[in-house]
Amino acid sequence: MSHTIHPIEYPQKYSHSMSFLTPNPTLLESKLSRFTPETTRVVTDFDSTLTADNGKTSWSLFADSGLMPESYVVRRQVLKDRYYPYEIDLSLSETERSGYMRDWWIGHLELLVEYGLHKDILEQVVNHEMKIRTGMDSMLQELEELSIPVLVLSAGITQSIESVLRNQNLLFQEISIASNSLIFNAEWICQWIDTKQIIHVCNKDEWDASENVQETFKARTNILLFGDSLDDIKMIRNEERDSTIAVGFCTSNRVHQREKFLDTFDIVVESNTGDGGVGKFLLERIKS
Ligand SMILES: [Mg+2]
Repeated sequence: MSHTIHPIEYPQKYSHSMSFLTPNPTLLESKLSRFTPETTRVVTDFDSTLTADNGKTSWSLFADSGLMPESYVVRRQVLKDRYYPYEIDLSLSETERSGYMRDWWIGHLELLVEYGLHKDILEQVVNHEMKIRTGMDSMLQELEELSIPVLVLSAGITQSIESVLRNQNLLFQEISIASNSLIFNAEWICQWIDTKQIIHVCNKDEWDASENVQETFKARTNILLFGDSLDDIKMIRNEERDSTIAVGFCTSNRVHQREKFLDTFDIVVESNTGDGGVGKFLLERIKS
């Protein structure tokens, strides 16, 4: 379906590019009117959503770091060449794509274990490569001040997310992280992952919230969702769609999916590294 695009007239202080788009401003306004700080929770993706998109993901940046052996780099590329085409092939069934993604994630994890990824290398690499998307830092700060709970649901690596947030003084009380948590031995060498349920790019709907998270979220029926992939809409259940304001960051490698983004998200932001100010703008509206 083709959309009439409605640029949202945000005050300049929230966006330098003024490139926030909404397919349905009336619907967005009616949703916004129901949101209050007390009834709102946030669910957000990590790679290229909370972080600036630099063409790398939590899993891919080890290969580019220069800190891993050349044979790891080669073997990791073989995995990518085999599985990436399936990630972007939306003509496959969900089950097929999901199966391939799971095989990719496990294959890569096996490589990291075989090459003995050290926790120090992980910390060094992620903090060198990952920067928070401009504006998302102040949004996280404000969510903490408003006591709005935030779930980071990511196909990346728990320790990478914690490390990046901690390093930038953003690992707040209100933040819960659901991702793939690596197990390290006493020498801080990666051994495996601590769950049977690997979260990859297209199974975020299969993730089961812990009891703590469920309890925190129970009274909060309004959801702000942030993602940079069409699959990120799966972070909420279908029946929650009417009470969700979904923001999609359409990065330059996804412009060919622009129409689909407008079908999927309430607000589409065309920026690779900035315009996280959209979050702050929504909070201003929710507070008023
Ligand atoms: Mg992402």
